[in-house]
Amino acid sequence: MKLIIHGGFFSEADQSNETKIAKQTALKEISLKGFQKLKNGAAAVEVVVFCVELLENDSLFNAGYGSQIQSDGKVRMSASLMDGETEKFSGVINIQDIEHPISIAQVLQKEDDRVLGGEGANLYANEKTDLGKFFDPRTDYRIADYEHKKEDLLAKNHQAGKGTVGCVALDIEGKLAAATSTGGKGFELVGRISDSATVAGNYANEHCAVSCTGVGEDIVSNATAAKIVTRVSDGFSLEKAFEKTFLELKKYDGFAGAIAIDASGNIFHHDSHPTMVWASADEGGISCFN
Ligand code: ASP
Repeated sequence: MKLIIHGGFFSEADQSNETKIAKQTALKEISLKGFQKLKNGAAAVEVVVFCVELLENDSLFNAGYGSQIQSDGKVRMSASLMDGETEKFSGVINIQDIEHPISIAQVLQKEDDRVLGGEGANLYANEKTDLGKFFDPRTDYRIADYEHKKEDLLAKNHQAGKGTVGCVALDIEGKLAAATSTGGKGFELVGRISDSATVAGNYANEHCAVSCTGVGEDIVSNATAAKIVTRVSDGFSLEKAFEKTFLELKKYDGFAGAIAIDASGNIFHHDSHPTMVWASADEGGISCFN
């Protein structure tokens, strides 16, 4: 049993020591809670959703409550879930005004149409689940940040938000799963699609599970998560699969980070730029970024 979570990059506007410690504490607590569930026999696919829900609740991260605001002042969130056993991928893209995008992705696992976008995702949440209740994901911090960017004529050059969250887990039965949730880059064009609800940002099979964060356009161009998983399936070690995949990102200075676990229980994480925040848990205890 193993679990690793990430909270995106530590390169958002607020890089104070206080925030760093708060992120470390939150990630450690959530990884511990998730690991406890694995120990109690919960399936990986349940535990990754559980951890991502907790991360979505925490306004320190750019997912669910505390999501980045887009250029028109609205929050649109994306999340996906992949069950490594069934190899089913489900997700929502640009869903609005709900509390837990990852929970809708979870419900969608049972559908034939498993990735829903925009209005359709909200319609599904409202009509087919009890998870569609109105919830304003904006925090005062994000609103102030958005206003600042709007006033700033250099808005186009602002730093993309990189606090996406994700979790991968290996359960007691040796099954893997991956979940990822995001508020996007912040101040993006309306209609922009994040990597987080694509197979580039979140992918799993029986051999490996991966969740990414970073600049979605780079992650999609590189097909990062799907590539790492495919390479491990074809016999690469986790480390070698990361090495080759991140080398390919270098061509265009791709900005990405990823967390992974393979079927043997190896855990790996890597980032192309400083610094992805993460925590992992197994029988040996908890590790965390510093
Ligand atoms: N990957 C996300 C996106 O581009 C952003 C992030 O990881 O923070 O939408």
